[in-house]
Amino acid sequence: MFSGFDIGIDLGTANTLVYSKNKGIVVNEPSVVAIDTESKKIVAVGMEAKEMIGKTPEKIIAVRPLKDGVIADFDTTTEMIKHIMRQASKKIGLALRKPNVIVCIPSGSTSVERRAIHDTVKNAGAKKITLIEEPVAAAIGAGLPVDEPIANVVVDIGGGNTEVAIISFGGVVACHSIKVGGDRLDEDVIQYVRKEYNVMIGERTAENVKMEIGYALIDHEEKFMDVRGRDLVTGLPKTIKLSSYEIRNAIKESLLHILEAVRATLEDCPAELSGDIVDRGVILTGGGALLNGMKDWLSKEIFVPVQLAEEPLESVAIGTGMAVPYINKLPATISK
Ligand code: ADP
Ligand code: MG
Repeated sequence: MFSGFDIGIDLGTANTLVYSKNKGIVVNEPSVVAIDTESKKIVAVGMEAKEMIGKTPEKIIAVRPLKDGVIADFDTTTEMIKHIMRQASKKIGLALRKPNVIVCIPSGSTSVERRAIHDTVKNAGAKKITLIEEPVAAAIGAGLPVDEPIANVVVDIGGGNTEVAIISFGGVVACHSIKVGGDRLDEDVIQYVRKEYNVMIGERTAENVKMEIGYALIDHEEKFMDVRGRDLVTGLPKTIKLSSYEIRNAIKESLLHILEAVRATLEDCPAELSGDIVDRGVILTGGGALLNGMKDWLSKEIFVPVQLAEEPLESVAIGTGMAVPYINKLPATISK
């Protein structure tokens, strides 16, 4: 029997969050680690490390140890989780003992990848570890009745991946996971600016462009933004003016991939549950859900209502915490 937990961890490709039973979200940091390549020591973790991306001297590199939703670098991820668990323990006052942890795993992950997440959290100092499927956590966090025989559809657009899942009666009945998420949109912006203007811009700049003047494929009033980068011809700094229309075009292909994953999942839906989807619609979560016009665009394309989760960046973390009452009821989605 599952007895309890101290913290829930949403180990995302872009952000890692920790939820505590009593205190709510106690840690919310970018999943970034800065490493000194000479001493191999970790110089910074989280926001401090993210600030360093693309700005550090050569011997310090800022890395994101999770790529496409899976652990790309085992040791660095372990160090990052250690750091984050320490931070959480301090805030909650658990410092003296090892915490029991619930941690999310992407639905599309293999048993090897699941084991890697389990072992990493264990090595980082957890006592008991319970794994829960991410879309299920997202659905619980968004307040959906996952333990009822009703179709709950979740579209979670993260940094490295997008997961679309239909959950009913405590289990995932259909799901598609693609390695296209917010990071890909940033990459699209970088490539576009390089090709069109011969200017190289950094990852952070591209992300800002996406957040400010990036739009899903809907009509909107054109917006502009001045952006600085390096002219690839002269090598000198250069400022260019970007329009929201050209950015929309630059990210179009990636958005269509996301739409395709949503459509494919809905097509896999058992007929008996299809009616629920028409009535109840789809819930949109993850940071990518915040792209301007995302909700309206998806709704228009799939002909069902789309609702934005209340806190798209936090639903998964909140869901891990709220999952406790379900844990003994949802054997299909939980493993210890
Ligand atoms: P993960 O679960 O993989 O850690 P998150 O759910 O934290 O990912 O989402 C991170 C992604 O959301 C990043 O690609 C980020 O750029 C994107 N994002 C965050 N806010 C916005 C916004 N306002 N508009 C568009 N994208 C956003
Ligand atoms: Mg996530």
